[in-house]
Amino acid sequence: MPNKIKIVFLGNCASAPTSLRNLSSLLLSYNGQGYLFDCPENTQQQIMKSSQSAMKINNIFITHMHGDHYFGLFGLLSSFKLNNRVSNLNIYVPKGEKVFLERLIALIISDIYKLDYKINVIEIERGKALDTQDIVVEAIPLLHSIKTNGYIFKVKDKVGRFNKAKALKLNIPEGQLFSRLQKGQSIKLGGKIIHPKDVMDFTFRKVGKKIAYLTDTMPLKKIPKALEDIDILVHESTFFKEDSRKAILVKHSFAEEVLEFSSKARAGCVYLTHISGKYTDLDKREKQLLKKNKSVRIARQLQEIEIDDYK
Ligand SMILES: [Zn+2]
Ligand SMILES: [Zn+2]
Repeated sequence: MPNKIKIVFLGNCASAPTSLRNLSSLLLSYNGQGYLFDCPENTQQQIMKSSQSAMKINNIFITHMHGDHYFGLFGLLSSFKLNNRVSNLNIYVPKGEKVFLERLIALIISDIYKLDYKINVIEIERGKALDTQDIVVEAIPLLHSIKTNGYIFKVKDKVGRFNKAKALKLNIPEGQLFSRLQKGQSIKLGGKIIHPKDVMDFTFRKVGKKIAYLTDTMPLKKIPKALEDIDILVHESTFFKEDSRKAILVKHSFAEEVLEFSSKARAGCVYLTHISGKYTDLDKREKQLLKKNKSVRIARQLQEIEIDDYK
């Protein structure tokens, strides 16, 4: 049975919230862990309204230090303390922003040194931000008015399949020795060494899904390798075509060019988010975009989707 990745859009608004739309952020849930991408004001309440729990979040990825992407962090950190959090928390920020964020946290949360959990602020410019047993989160530089990271969450590929029949033929007893070979360790049996390659089929490969969160940015000129064949692309679309000149001026994207970008990346599905609060006819606009590209969606506040972890 495949495991599921749950994707929760906590909001879809740009710059300032409206009475109906919260600012953009994304919560991914996989194998019991929560991964939060951006933490604008009101993120806590949005999580409470979703099917997820903030206490499962051990890694927060901040795209950049514009207020609509991190002003909710301080409230969340305080609530963690009130909820007796003890597990450490990693917060990833673009290069050059670590000291700034640490100072802000220390200023705003006066009893920061009495927290029962440790906050690690980690700077990342590009490449692996987080590498665990089952997933990798990679950062890529975006095109915005200040240093901004996009993040790509990927389930690690599974290479190799255990051939039980072969193992039994070699008289290996089922149990512990099986699992050692599956873990890539050689074993000794009756004076003979048996290597994983003797019982594993290494031509077998299960490809893990990947989800990208790219905001705020103009569409990248080139598709980075890590973005190719992305399963779910979550991309900012602060504007639509009639405001394309403004988009270029303030280094944001408009929907129609994001569609082109997503086709170039061969994205399975593209969700537009970080949409200016001035647009109030998102249903109509989504219908129009669907005529151009069937795999486009406008992310809706508190929308939750679920996908299998492997292709
Ligand atoms: Zn923004
Ligand atoms: Zn911004």
